Amino acid sequence: MSKGRVEVGSVSKNFSLGGSKTVDILDNISFSAKANEFLSIVGPSGSGKSTLLKCMSGLLKPTSGTIAINSVDPYSLKPSHLAKMRRSEIGFIFQSYNLVPALPVFENISLPLRLSRKSIDKSVVEEMLRKMNFNAELTSFVDTLSGGEQQKVAIARVLVTHPQIIFADEPTGAVDAESKQIIFNILRKLADEGACVIMVTHDVDLAAMTDKALVLKNGQIRQTLTGSSASEILAEIERK
Ligand code: ADP
Ligand code: MG
Repeated sequence: MSKGRVEVGSVSKNFSLGGSKTVDILDNISFSAKANEFLSIVGPSGSGKSTLLKCMSGLLKPTSGTIAINSVDPYSLKPSHLAKMRRSEIGFIFQSYNLVPALPVFENISLPLRLSRKSIDKSVVEEMLRKMNFNAELTSFVDTLSGGEQQKVAIARVLVTHPQIIFADEPTGAVDAESKQIIFNILRKLADEGACVIMVTHDVDLAAMTDKALVLKNGQIRQTLTGSSASEILAEIERK
């Protein structure tokens, strides 16, 4: 898998507060991520991490600047082509899971494949969930599950599509320590096998285990850290 590249060029994002008032969230950000790379984005709460991930993945158009996903600007595409690109090239693990509450576990996981008219074996999904120490039935409705179990369903739903580029917004926010390590190992393995993985996290221990940690502050990438310890990353986040 050699494809899997995201380029962020001078991206700024501001939100309208009504009238002529706007608030600047991202300020002229540039960086890129490629296949085989596991990148983390850290920063204080409210610093724009989720906004950046949405801009990078074709969910939220930047106010200015450019995004290229495998050399294509997602915001130049017709909605149907953007949807297809998102289905075939991108996996997005949402902070809020974004599962369909009225569907059971298996149907949630197989939904993206059904949209692409592909089939999936129940045993493949079972095996995937077993590896994640999933503790519920495939027939359970997802709104009856704990946050941690819902997160595993959301991750499995991304894994079954084998995306080249994976965006994960706080994928370990709601899980226990053991599940956190399992989820991290899955993302690490995907990157080692050729995917481009971009993870937002507030967990500096996890960030220290990625290839590169980008520290987002005041709308800008304050630092790009490689080989830094958790405490060094934390110091950078807290530095005035
Ligand atoms: P983080 O993920 O780092 O906690 P977010 O990207 O979610 O931060 O949000 C950054 C800032 O942008 C916050 O102050 C948030 O309130 C604001 N924000 C996010 N989305 C919107 C929106 N649609 N309209 C107005 N403000 C927003
Ligand atoms: Mg966020």
